Amino acid sequence: MPRKLVVGNWKMNGSRVANAELLAALKVAGPWDADIAVCAPAPYLGEVALSLQGEFIAWGAQDVSAHESGAYTGEVSAAMLAEFGCKYAIVGHSERRAYHAESDQLVADKAKAALAHRLTPIVCVGETLAEREAGHTDEVVKRQLSAVIHTLGHCIPQIVVAYEPVWAIGTGKTASPEQAQAVHALLRAQLKAATEHAADMRILYGGSVKADNAAQLFGQADIDGGLIGGASLKAADFAAICRAAH
Ligand code: PEP
Repeated sequence: MPRKLVVGNWKMNGSRVANAELLAALKVAGPWDADIAVCAPAPYLGEVALSLQGEFIAWGAQDVSAHESGAYTGEVSAAMLAEFGCKYAIVGHSERRAYHAESDQLVADKAKAALAHRLTPIVCVGETLAEREAGHTDEVVKRQLSAVIHTLGHCIPQIVVAYEPVWAIGTGKTASPEQAQAVHALLRAQLKAATEHAADMRILYGGSVKADNAAQLFGQADIDGGLIGGASLKAADFAAICRAAH
């Protein structure tokens, strides 16, 4: 079993003062028996990087450009992130798929761009409520992951996958441990068909993970940690989730 990974996705939240307070509290509360990272909004990344130098908490971006450089106003390249010591880049978060019309192929291209600069892409997949209710969960997550597998080829073991049912993100509705495990097992099987290293790859669960449900979710055979939104903004809550991952 791989070492667990817990990643905080701050989304478009925070301020210089709030970030400093949150990171200071986490540094005191940890370390924990798992890998830990926070993904901050782009303007704060340099400051977060400085604050976390030599610490047990890694940091990542919430998105990355599929392009190397050039006329792509507003985008941030993997090379730029790598210059600051970035370790992870979330790609294909459902909010980006929904609000920025990111396709499966664009998400795969972003993962490839991240890997080219030694960032670990955290590739998010997940079904909407309508897709789950129509019985299409398996088909949707397999299609999303398949684009990444085909694009990355033999590099696929270098990614982290995050299963995030869209209906569970920020809604307070968590997938039951059994529901989550079923999809994680499906994703693991799909990875196994692509690489002999699938058992060592990390598949995170995301969607209203809280201090009181984290241990049960992380106790499932194919759940290797979590991608945490709302609860990653409060030091005590995030610390409790990190503590549950071992
Ligand atoms: C997320 O944004 O990746 C997420 C899982 O959010 P939340 O924990 O708030 O549901």
